[in-house]
This record gives sequence, C-alpha cells and structure tokens, in this order.
Amino acid sequence: MAAKLDIPELDQCVHCGLCLNQCPTYRVLRLEPESPRGRIHLVRAVSEGRIEPNERFGDHLYLCLMCRACETACPSGVQYGRIAEAAREILGPPGSPLARAVAKFAFTALLPSQTRLRTVAKFLRFYQRSGVQSMVRRLLPKRLREMEAMLPPVPDRFFIPGADALPAIGERRARVAVLSGCVMSVLFGEVNEATVRVLRRNGCDVVMPKGQGCCGALNIHNGETAMAKVMARRNIDIFLGCGVDAVIVNAAGCGAAMKEYGHLLRDDATYAEKAERFGRLVKDSSEFVAGLGLVGSLGRIEMDVTYQDPCHLAHGQRVRAQPRALLARIPGLRLIEMNGSDRCCGSAGIYNLTHPEMSQEILREKMKSIAETASEAVVAPNPGCMLQLDYGARRYGPKVRVLHLMDLLDQAYGAGGPAEVDERFAR
Ligand code: SF4
Ligand code: SF4
Repeated sequence: MAAKLDIPELDQCVHCGLCLNQCPTYRVLRLEPESPRGRIHLVRAVSEGRIEPNERFGDHLYLCLMCRACETACPSGVQYGRIAEAAREILGPPGSPLARAVAKFAFTALLPSQTRLRTVAKFLRFYQRSGVQSMVRRLLPKRLREMEAMLPPVPDRFFIPGADALPAIGERRARVAVLSGCVMSVLFGEVNEATVRVLRRNGCDVVMPKGQGCCGALNIHNGETAMAKVMARRNIDIFLGCGVDAVIVNAAGCGAAMKEYGHLLRDDATYAEKAERFGRLVKDSSEFVAGLGLVGSLGRIEMDVTYQDPCHLAHGQRVRAQPRALLARIPGLRLIEMNGSDRCCGSAGIYNLTHPEMSQEILREKMKSIAETASEAVVAPNPGCMLQLDYGARRYGPKVRVLHLMDLLDQAYGAGGPAEVDERFAR
C-alpha cells in the first residue's frame, strides 16, 4: 500500500501528553500507541516513510473511537480528527476481508440510498416481529448473540422527507431545513417529527427537501472518503437550493460532519466555496433553538434526568451549554450531572460492532456514572448514543429511559398528537 499523507495538523502536536487521560482507549489500556499522542506519532512516522501503513498501524488507528475528547483537552489546538481521518483514508475500512467487503457495501451502496436503507429496515422489522428472531437467538453462538442483541427494535413507520414547507406557528422568525438523516429517519422518525414541531412552535417555517441523504460521517470515519464527497455534494446542492436561514440537524455526529464539509471538499474547485457556505448554515437543533430563544409556554415534566454529551456535539461542535439551558427551561425537570458526561459511551458509529470488548468496557463505566445520578432518564441528542445507552440499560442497568432533547421539549410543549406532521412525512 503506497502511503501518501500530507497532514499540516501533524506539526501542531508538541507531545505534551495533556490529552492522554481524556482518551477512553488510553484510560483502559494505559498504552502509548492507544493514546492520541501515540497515534499522532505513528501517523507522522508513516507520513515520513519511516514505517509502513500496515495492519498493526491500522489496528492502532481503528481502536480510536474518533470521539475527539483529545481535541478538547489539547492546549495546542491539534485537530486530531483530521489527522485520523486522513490516515484512515489510506487504510480503507477496518477488519477482516469479509468485514471490509460488508463495510464497503454498507458505505457505498446502503447509506447513500434511503430506499435501500428502508428496505433493509423493513426486513429487520419482519425478522423481529415474525418470531424468526427468537428462533435465531437460540441458535447463535454467544459472540454473535451478543451482537444481535444490539439490534434496536424497528418502529412501525419511517420518517420520509417531503417537499412542502410546514408553516411556523405564531410569529414567523426563521425559515429552516431539517436533515432527516439515515439512522434517524428509519429508527427515530418520531424524534424528527418532534424536532419539526418544536421548530414550528418557535416560529420556524420548516422544509424537509426531497433528495437529501445521509451526511457521510460514517464513510469519513471509516476511510470511504470518495463516497462521502459524493454524498456531501448532493446535500449541499439540495439544501442550498432551499433558500433557508439554517440547516437543522438533530444528530450530533451528522452535524459535526456537515459543518466540516468545507474541509472535506477543500480541493474541489466547484464545491469548496459552496461547502464552506453550507457548513456555516448547519446548526445542531439545540444550538439553533437556544440561540433563537424558546417561545411559548412549556408544561411541567416532573422528572430527574441526566445528560450525556454526545462526543460530536461537545468535542466536535463545542455545543455544551445550549442543551442544558433548554433542559433548565422545562418546569419540574431536574438535571443531575453525571461524572464524565462528555466521555464517550462506546458507540462511536460502528465501533460497538467492530470493537465489542472495548466498547462494552467503556459502556459499563458510562452506565455506572448514570446509575450514580439515580435519574429516571438519560438525555442524549444523537442516535448512536441513544442506541448504545438503551442497550446498556437493558444489559447492565440501571433501567433508565433514553430520550432525545427534542422529545422532551416536544412533550413539554404538549404537542397534540401525531396528525400535525405524521400524515405528511411518515410512511
Ligand atoms: S495532541 Fe495536543 S495535548 Fe496531545 S500530546 Fe499533542 S499537543 Fe499535547
Ligand atoms: S479521538 Fe478519542 S479515542 Fe481517539 S485518540 Fe482522541 S480521545 Fe482517544
């Protein structure tokens, strides 16, 4: 494999080591090559031709969760995520030849197509409800049974974006577009509907343009950059064509990737400027709503909740205060902070599948922190975290509910039933 790595960010690292104790993999293994500094060192060695980007190098790079906690900790402003993404681009997807082939299919054929994704989700729904699942579970070996248990229940209906604008409720304050997302649209369609209702109640005309697709974050994190660029260009064209004040994203990982489309397409003469412009429009749903200022009256929700900072919201987008400020606006709701709320939960895209041991080790620690708060629910505005924490609650306890922030706000507004949005956007 010919290595070609020219990464200016490498020069920013002064090897101080202040990031080490914030790194989940270093905290577990206490090994330098499993730390941010160690990985940067390895990438530099490859870029200078001192070592080959071989399998061992790939193992170190892919044991990283891409949580970017090291970026928050780094006093020199090293953008570790960009270093790791560039290294993974020359490595390609991780795992055995079979795992790589499956990943390649998922990243290049499945994620870019909402239709195929919905077909797979329908198949899964049939598998879960027909009784086949319980039969299969009895037959699977332990390792596969544990992986199968991570499958989330597929809901009755999906969220399908449409072309019409839904009008603001009350005084019009903005016109926004909403990303429906890949996982969000098939597994968390109700969160998308809640997001739309909250935006409308806050004076937004909402469009959900047809033709939009997956953001490409999983591709970027797993060395499938070429397809990620295709997906980014499509989203840029679709969303810039809507003439909106902001593009609202309720999945932290997607928002972080879309804000950085400018970097992804920096060498594309046609799209570089458009990608930068598009990135400035992208806002996390909490960031946008808090910035706009909540309007309308919120009903009481008597509940103790704790908050999980999704890595790509806290470290990737530096959005921490806004979700907490919104939670504080809900009467009756008490926020109890957990220890290490901005520490990764071990989900990290497909990491819980590719590195189950490390993922579970990290998840167990997270569930312990949640248990210490004695909360009834954990709020985590990102689908990967929601799936992982829900699995953690089932497997390790405590039996908390896992909620998206937009769910809670929508409940507090007492949004009346599904008819307002569902009939037009859900199938
Ligand atoms: S990444 Fe930053 S914190 Fe970590 S060793 Fe390098 S300079 Fe220090
Ligand atoms: S991104 Fe997360 S797991 Fe990877 S080196 Fe940085 S802190 Fe460690």
